[in-house]
Amino acid sequence: MIEKNSLARSFAGLARTAEKNKASIAISKEPLENPPLQIHTLGNQVLRRPARRISKVDESIRELVKDMLRSMYSAKGIGLAAPQVGIDKQLLVIDLDLENPTNPPLVLINPEIITTSASLETYEEGCLSIPEVYLDVLRPSSIKISFRDEMGRPKKMNVDGLMGRCIQHEIDHLNGVLFVDRVTNKTDLDIALKEHGFRSEDVHSLQKK
Ligand SMILES: [Zn+2]
Repeated sequence: MIEKNSLARSFAGLARTAEKNKASIAISKEPLENPPLQIHTLGNQVLRRPARRISKVDESIRELVKDMLRSMYSAKGIGLAAPQVGIDKQLLVIDLDLENPTNPPLVLINPEIITTSASLETYEEGCLSIPEVYLDVLRPSSIKISFRDEMGRPKKMNVDGLMGRCIQHEIDHLNGVLFVDRVTNKTDLDIALKEHGFRSEDVHSLQKK
């Protein structure tokens, strides 16, 4: 038979565990007039710097996550990587449902792609660092990733569709790669960049010459 006190203690323990497992990042998705972080654009060298791994997921990382989310929501983006705000940490945030205030964002810390599908698909991509430029990019249609969440818990996930696409795009940012580096149609690329005031010289094409 369980003693009353120990029962109370175990309930308290359960409540603490539930509290710890709850999504810790809950912030408003309303755009702010003065977002906390500035998003850098194509041509700025911070975007080309490979990001460093995060050794400890603590409160300061969660504060950074919140500021990144506030900046992403203010720019009406669905994904943002730390290098885009000039921070060389392997951290990215994603939210595919900006209209739904209760849909929790996805936070990926030190994400790694473990496997990629053989099948590829073309999808039109855009980027908060290259505003208004939208171009087709070919990538694996599904991937398996490992990462840590905002509480530092190790996780694995299979992703495809828009989520798979978005995660691959954001992981590229952590390696200093931008989606325009992967665009194969050079004519479309040059036209779109010029139209929006960007320079073709700032693209580091990954295509074989
Ligand atoms: Zn981007």
